[in-house]
Amino acid sequence: MRILVSGAGIAGLAAGIDLARAGHDVEVVERAAHLRTNGSPIDVRGAALGVARDMGILDAVHAHEITMTERTRFVDASGAAVAPLVGSEIDESSDDVEIPREDLTNILRQALPEQVELRFEESITALDDDGDRVAVTFASGRAAVYDLVVGADGAHSTVRRLVFGPEQQFTEHLGVYVAIGDAPDQATPGERTTEILNVPGLMAGVAHYHDRTLGMFEFRSGPIDYDHHDLDAQKRILAEVFDGVEDWKIPALLRTARADPDLYFDAIAQIHMPVWHRGRVVLIGDAAHCATPMAGRGASLALLGAWYLTEELGRHDDLTTAFEAYERRQRPHAAAAQEFALGGADLMVPATWADIEARNARLRAAQPL
Ligand SMILES: Cc1cc2nc3c(=O)[nH]c(=O)nc-3n(C[C@H](O)[C@H](O)[C@H](O)COP(=O)(O)OP(=O)(O)OC[C@H]3O[C@@H](n4cnc5c(N)ncnc54)[C@H](O)[C@@H]3O)c2cc1C
Repeated sequence: MRILVSGAGIAGLAAGIDLARAGHDVEVVERAAHLRTNGSPIDVRGAALGVARDMGILDAVHAHEITMTERTRFVDASGAAVAPLVGSEIDESSDDVEIPREDLTNILRQALPEQVELRFEESITALDDDGDRVAVTFASGRAAVYDLVVGADGAHSTVRRLVFGPEQQFTEHLGVYVAIGDAPDQATPGERTTEILNVPGLMAGVAHYHDRTLGMFEFRSGPIDYDHHDLDAQKRILAEVFDGVEDWKIPALLRTARADPDLYFDAIAQIHMPVWHRGRVVLIGDAAHCATPMAGRGASLALLGAWYLTEELGRHDDLTTAFEAYERRQRPHAAAAQEFALGGADLMVPATWADIEARNARLRAAQPL
């Protein structure tokens, strides 16, 4: 089949690899001008490790493994450690592999078969599925026809909006926002510990791995109305929320975040859909079932979904039957990840001083500092 994949994140790149290797003619379009490699390290866990092995990338994934979680400490306003981040609170098993997001993205990029066309600064503006083919119009003005369109364009998916309707009907806001940016002037040579400070409803942290230093922020808030593509608006919101918080390294971390042209900012909001396919269009990854970074399972779900979809397309001639089989296999993983994420706010951004103290005491009891 001639297949269009919208989005070149983990899900889109994995779909490009799997579908092309299965013999399909695949084109991937990515709205950004380059692969978006920022963000904090992510995890490949559980069944996704088997998929990574079958994709032939597991050795490369292991070669880029880092161990950030086990060196993460919650600190007080003076910078003194008050509790460890206990791995068993977030990991599935000791086999889980933590890897910088940019490394996993680059591994997938390198594994993408040469015949896959990867177009940057391109996105879908209209889709017309006549039952036999999908006619697609792009922002560049180009038009083309495909047998199948895969929406792998993330939590704010355009394919989902065009085919299934507005985002709001599928979004479940978990009451927290996240921002992650480069924090080069916070680099502490030789110091490889990740530190996190909480004040009620707010979290700021600084993480080090390889030669990179990241500033990380979370804050509790109901839904905020802003343009997802307006980075200045995102930076303004972050500055307003942390305004007047002078503790520890927070003012410096905010300065570097505001200077980062690739700052990652988003609501911690899940996507829940009753069905992930319609006609010749199917969703994978965050577009279908975003579990949020609080789940720590988004990359694993992305690898799994692309794999299951490809396998089921190979097993069934009828597209709907293939999509249903893909959904049956993927849904339990997505549901478990979404359920897991619900405890994330209380762990990472407790609401009150009492909650912060209780969290710290629990973690210290589980693992002494
Ligand atoms: C910049 C960034 C940073 C992230 N940081 C973290 C993190 O620190 N921790 C964490 O747990 N998760 C993070 N995530 C989410 C995590 O990558 C996903 O949960 C997981 O990998 C599933 O990926 P996905 O490919 O489904 O979605 P995404 O990773 O969101 O990838 C979607 C891709 O589609 C592209 N795209 C969007 N709209 C269009 C369009 N209309 N046309 C074409 N392309 C489009 C995006 O630019 C992006 O490259 C981040 C995502 C992004 C984009």
